[in-house]
Amino acid sequence: MAEYKKPTNPAEFAANFSPKKPLMSDTEAYYESSRCLYCYDAPCINACPTGIDIPLFIRQINDGNKEGAAKTIYESNWFGHACGNVCPTEELCEGSCVYNNSDVKPIEIGRLQAHATDQVIRSKKKLFRTGKDTGRKVAVIGAGPAGVSCACELRMLGHAVDIYEAKAKPSGLCVYGVAPYKLTNEEAVDEMAYLQEQFGFTIHYNKPVTGRAELDKLEKDYDAIFIGIGLGGTSALGIPGEDKKGVIGALEFVEGLRNMQHKTAVGNKVIVLGGGNTAMDAASESCRMGAESVTIAYRRGPEEMGAYSFEFDLAKKSGSKALFNVTPVEFIGNGAVTGVKFIRNRSAYGKIEAIPGSEFVEECDMVLLGTGQGKQVELLEQISGVKLDQKSRILDDRGRIVVNEHYQTNNPKYFAAGDAVNGGVEVVNAAAEAKKAAHGIDQYLKK
Ligand SMILES: Cc1cc2nc3c(=O)[nH]c(=O)nc-3n(C[C@H](O)[C@H](O)[C@H](O)COP(=O)(O)OP(=O)(O)OC[C@H]3O[C@@H](n4cnc5c(N)ncnc54)[C@H](O)[C@@H]3O)c2cc1C
Ligand code: SF4
Repeated sequence: MAEYKKPTNPAEFAANFSPKKPLMSDTEAYYESSRCLYCYDAPCINACPTGIDIPLFIRQINDGNKEGAAKTIYESNWFGHACGNVCPTEELCEGSCVYNNSDVKPIEIGRLQAHATDQVIRSKKKLFRTGKDTGRKVAVIGAGPAGVSCACELRMLGHAVDIYEAKAKPSGLCVYGVAPYKLTNEEAVDEMAYLQEQFGFTIHYNKPVTGRAELDKLEKDYDAIFIGIGLGGTSALGIPGEDKKGVIGALEFVEGLRNMQHKTAVGNKVIVLGGGNTAMDAASESCRMGAESVTIAYRRGPEEMGAYSFEFDLAKKSGSKALFNVTPVEFIGNGAVTGVKFIRNRSAYGKIEAIPGSEFVEECDMVLLGTGQGKQVELLEQISGVKLDQKSRILDDRGRIVVNEHYQTNNPKYFAAGDAVNGGVEVVNAAAEAKKAAHGIDQYLKK
């Protein structure tokens, strides 16, 4: 089990958050690419939501044609570099590599992908030509994986694109959410600068679209509008004491960490509530920030956690412990949190049931709520005709944008993709959906 000292400067922060998938050298890439069997009907392609021709780009790397490899990757996925680093490859392409059938280590597809794309980003190699100008203009709301992917594809189709982004940096959760040992701020932002240089779309930073006035202007000035706003902040649990100092959303903690790095405040005893990937990331990151103890608390058993098992393993290897079958009922403390009162659960016919009298208090000085992200329902409800789903009234899970197969909403001028539509999956899903949405917009504009 790793033990981390609290980082006090950028170098110590970088050491604690050293890359999970370090960049390959040319020799490593040559060796790894020569292991590929270039399978016919390759299962790795089918497992990739963006359908990258993986054997082709691996062969191109092996032939010394890294620019060709990068082009193959970007033709399918405009977030090719980010995805090489952040994709759950263990579950997707690498998880389906034929080598798994023989208990041999699968090809390191993610690292090869990052290797090829890193080369063209650093050399600023121009790989694409934008389409012939159509004279049509599209507004994109949000410069995350969905928004930027849609913008790149629209530029390939010849439409002008302006992106309106609420924050100061591009790439959405790649720079505000994903763990820094997967992707650094520089890597995320450099890929965006590379794409912007290739495609010439405009990003207006610190320009949140918040209500009817801005929407009216967009509707007047643009021929179509793409919504790529992702989800909202951490959802509240709604139990007593949630306003105590030291109780914060896991997402907001991660965002702070990406911005402030070694200066991020972390408790000595941290409790992370939740069983999803964000909770696992927050636990791994708290350990790497030097917390003395980090405990993941989840209301069901380990087999029911939403997180990938490799993310839970990483949290444990980083030093986290776990408490299962417990529900938080109150945050204890006078002003600042000093503990969480839990009640133990048992499973009954697939449901969980609190065990009366089993309450106990777990001490802590920081609680990270990995309780899921809310949705931007207030804004979306102001767009006439845009329909939102209502998955479950009990879980208050309302608010994903409903779209058709072309990612068009019930208001024909508006299209949407990414987390705002799928409820929160991965970067690669947002990139894949947004590319299709761009073609939906193209068809709409041609009508
Ligand atoms: C903590 C965390 C860790 C994750 N780790 C991984 C991982 O390791 N690998 C992986 O593949 N996926 C990961 N994901 C999921 C992945 O980040 C998302 O699926 C992906 O970023 C979704 O892209 P998006 O463009 O739909 O939304 P976002 O990335 O959220 O981008 C939305 C953009 O829109 C902007 N915006 C929002 N509202 C407005 C508005 N009203 N006006 C203007 N702009 C607005 C936001 O500032 C943001 O830039 C993680 C998610 C979280 C929360
Ligand atoms: S499945 Fe594995 S060996 Fe086959 S083409 Fe894909 S990466 Fe290469």
